[in-house]
Amino acid sequence: MDPMAQTLLSVVIPAFNEARSLAAFHARLGAAMRSPALAGYRWEAVYVDDGSTDATPQRLGALQAADPRVAVLRLSRNFGKEIAITAGLDHAGGEAVILIDADLQDPPELIPTLVARWREGFDVVYAQRRLRAGDSWLKRRTAHAFYRLMQRIGRVRLPENAGDFRLISRRVVLALQRLPEQHRFMKGLFAWVGFASIAVPYDRAPRAAGASTFTYWRLWNLALEGITGFTVMPLKVATYAGLVVAILAGLYGVQLVARTLLFGNPVSGYPSLMAVILFLGGVQLLTLGVIGEYLGRIFNETKRRPLYIVDQFLPADGGDADASAAPRSTRITAAP
Ligand code: UDP
Ligand code: MG
Repeated sequence: MDPMAQTLLSVVIPAFNEARSLAAFHARLGAAMRSPALAGYRWEAVYVDDGSTDATPQRLGALQAADPRVAVLRLSRNFGKEIAITAGLDHAGGEAVILIDADLQDPPELIPTLVARWREGFDVVYAQRRLRAGDSWLKRRTAHAFYRLMQRIGRVRLPENAGDFRLISRRVVLALQRLPEQHRFMKGLFAWVGFASIAVPYDRAPRAAGASTFTYWRLWNLALEGITGFTVMPLKVATYAGLVVAILAGLYGVQLVARTLLFGNPVSGYPSLMAVILFLGGVQLLTLGVIGEYLGRIFNETKRRPLYIVDQFLPADGGDADASAAPRSTRITAAP
């Protein structure tokens, strides 16, 4: 028999209030997974219901009733996409795991290509957007600026225009499970883990239904996670800014003394005094804020809370039941 015949592929789909997309999504996913290129693979679809408040649970129940390859993992509340993905990875049993959004922005038809590249020996096969249709000019610009910044100050190299849509091999999943951080910036974690990776270009479609929950405020916070999670550069900036200010202050002091000795001391300088005080006050507050960002994260990490709480896990028929044996929700406190 073909050695691939038994190979299980897991598709992990985080879903938060996606009731309107799910039926169409699963139909397209099923069609893609039945493509001749994937003949001989078994597959499962692990839907992670990230605490949806709409009809998502009912829709997932219906999907599972109709298709035994559907697994449903329901988290106890909304934990956010990054954690939902982590939970899905912990409950996926496949030799390769494909991460894909439920809103049909990531075309399931690309999956056979991702699998083909994995078969060639790549551990991470990420889909790279060619166009960003449906994204505003501002979102494109800010995303680009963020990647540029991360590339400059971070130690890890984030591939630009790549989201979470990707295939990762089992050993990448195992490596990710050894990263215990609460603040999970998945794109950074994928990059940190390493392994041979390759891009597959694709065109990203606009959302099928509903609206993106990633407002600019959430994206800003995601960017902060990326920066603080992968570089301490902002802390160093404070050091060098302090050094520069101290040198300038020293020069200014010398000039003051010289001027007083030469020309006496007419009482003046109120504007410059105010300017210096206000400027330094601002710099100090900013620096405190930067320290606070890191301190807050240290605080969150030291609590060592589980990453997520599972409400219910209904595995796929014939899926790997072992995958649920040691979910992260309990694993986190054990030594790796
Ligand atoms: N998502 C999630 N939890 C959240 C927010 C989003 O699981 O708290 C899921 C959502 O259902 C979708 C994917 O993450 O499948 C991407 O979300 P969205 O389309 O809102 O983001 P964007 O495409 O704008 O990056
Ligand atoms: Mg989307």
